[in-house]
Amino acid sequence: MYYPDSKLPKVGTTIFSVMSQLAAQHNAINLSQGFPDFEGPEQLRKRVAYHIGHKANQYAPMTGVQPLREAIAEKAKRLYGANVCADEEVTVTSGATEAIFAAISAVVRQGDEVIVFDPCYDCYEPAIELNGGICRHISLTLPEFTIDWQALKEALTPRTRMIIVNTPHNPSGVTLSRQDLDKLAELVRDTHILLLGDEVYEHIVFDQQPHCSLLTHSELAARSFVVSSFGKTYHTTGWKVGYCIAPKPLSVELRKVHQYLTFSTAAPFQLAIADYMLHHPEYTGELPGFYQEKRDLFCQVIERSRFSFTPAKGTYFQLVDYSAISDMDDVSFSRWLTTEKGVAAIPVSVFCQNPDPDMRLVRFCFAKNEKTLREAGELLCQL
Ligand code: PMP
Ligand code: GLN
Repeated sequence: MYYPDSKLPKVGTTIFSVMSQLAAQHNAINLSQGFPDFEGPEQLRKRVAYHIGHKANQYAPMTGVQPLREAIAEKAKRLYGANVCADEEVTVTSGATEAIFAAISAVVRQGDEVIVFDPCYDCYEPAIELNGGICRHISLTLPEFTIDWQALKEALTPRTRMIIVNTPHNPSGVTLSRQDLDKLAELVRDTHILLLGDEVYEHIVFDQQPHCSLLTHSELAARSFVVSSFGKTYHTTGWKVGYCIAPKPLSVELRKVHQYLTFSTAAPFQLAIADYMLHHPEYTGELPGFYQEKRDLFCQVIERSRFSFTPAKGTYFQLVDYSAISDMDDVSFSRWLTTEKGVAAIPVSVFCQNPDPDMRLVRFCFAKNEKTLREAGELLCQL
């Protein structure tokens, strides 16, 4: 039997599966893969059971159920001042991952270049490559993980089809500012470059800072796919419900891919989320405080450790520098921490094309109960 060469020769199993599996094998506290160890709102979970009991068990409409698309459009207006058409510009997808794949597949052609910023979330590059695109990596400038605007300017070519921005940013926890959006607008003005905004942590931004969505910037919104995930917002990563907001011409193309990728997303989850959004508009305003407490607790419990860190500005991840503890590279350190010390983390170099060999950073997920965070803190302070 002849098996074809891999279309993704550089790709292995994602670091999230690898580290979660290692954590389970060694009974380590799993602060690696990003998911909460607590449940989403009870009312929301009850609505899923309600809809399963009330005949919502066949295909949802391809674009998403009407009440959910309307709730998403209403939220975009209320929070970002964006006028979004629920019928033509909102598409519900099976997680943000599907929305990202569909957006890239909809517009990236053979030889097109797509710019990403390292460290970058791991699902972008395979999607670009499967569509014949070329992924151009630009390193964020450490220690603040800021965009090097000059490097971005120099990387733009007539073949640049898209720039992918992720704010709040996984894994660094930094956020883009209004000035950043203005600089981006300056660079793409008078070009045909599209943007993909990965904003899955849009409601997890701390210290009273606003989330600067691409949707708040009408010039950028006109050329953007903006993607989010209900998994992050409602502590339900296993439901895999996300969405994409994009101007009609882009949504038309995205939907052509979505309809043959998954066709539609689980109906009871969509209806339950729509009910919850309608009855609890206050929820997203409370989420930053909820996670800020967890960030602060985690930072407090590792305060007397030998890790150094700057508290995350957003997301539910905290980056830490372990150079005072070990000289191992981050992949070895993460494995050692998991197998020998009982706490699992994610190495940062795996999100970089050309990682700095001297970088000594790992990511911890603090979307955990107080008990979990305290127990992990105890172990981390012994290092
Ligand atoms: N983008 C980023 C930056 C993420 O952290 C995640 C989280 N898993 C995703 C996309 C994918 O979200 P989903 O689980 O909804 O597919
Ligand atoms: N986004 C999550 C993280 O960053 C993981 C998602 C996944 O496991 N695919 O940890």
